[in-house]
Amino acid sequence: MRIILMGPPGAGKGTQAEKLTQKLDIPHISTGDMFRKAIKEETELGKRAKSFMEQGKLVPDEVTIGIVKERLAEPDCQKGFLLDGFPRTVAQADALEEILKEMNMALDAVINITVFRELLIERLTGRRVCKSCGATYHVIFNPTKKDGTCDKCGGELYQRNDDKLETVGNRLDVYEAQTAPLIEYYEKKGLLKDIDGSQSMDVVLSNVLAALGRE
Ligand code: ADP
Ligand code: AMP
Repeated sequence: MRIILMGPPGAGKGTQAEKLTQKLDIPHISTGDMFRKAIKEETELGKRAKSFMEQGKLVPDEVTIGIVKERLAEPDCQKGFLLDGFPRTVAQADALEEILKEMNMALDAVINITVFRELLIERLTGRRVCKSCGATYHVIFNPTKKDGTCDKCGGELYQRNDDKLETVGNRLDVYEAQTAPLIEYYEKKGLLKDIDGSQSMDVVLSNVLAALGRE
């Protein structure tokens, strides 16, 4: 299956992507994760992305489209893929269409996870991520057994810089201005499936699977 997971920051895309890609046996392509890895490894890409991310702005389209094009050309994407956090602008969506056309591929579905703003702020400011394996937790909604320590690998948890309250509002505004227009874009193509993301993780997962016909 070839799927896009859409929704504002904090909607639960990463959380659902992890479960869905296991279940559907397809690669998880998160542009946010790719940029964070590049920043950690201090590559040229990381240097280009860093200041935009810190301010909660989007990384320029030409940079983002380039890394997705390269990733989709890797052999594991032949069996399908789940895009998480891409596309985020109409220009990115148009570019994706071109890339897929060149590869003789088409999208199966665009899952749009919706959550109201107050809850998004609560989810983002309470999110904690493992430094070693990248697993995501929440201080209230999905806490670790031992404070500050990853349940999966024992790694140390940290708060993303862009999850601090001062950046979160900006990210949500950027989403409304630049990414929300993609809802209509994919609705017109008959691909959009809206999912209420304010429910529990398990309920959201089963609703997404039902929307994909994979219950
Ligand atoms: P996104 O990838 O869309 O930015 P995440 O998957 O990282 O969002 O989720 C944001 C935060 O909300 C994380 O701390 C996560 O543990 C928590 N979370 C995700 N889904 C739910 C849910 N259905 N109920 C409660 N908390 C959730
Ligand atoms: P995420 O992990 O999806 O919340 O993304 C974190 C940050 O990475 C965003 O706030 C942007 O700065 C950048 N980013 C991720 N995906 C994209 C994209 N498709 N286009 C532009 N910037 C992106």
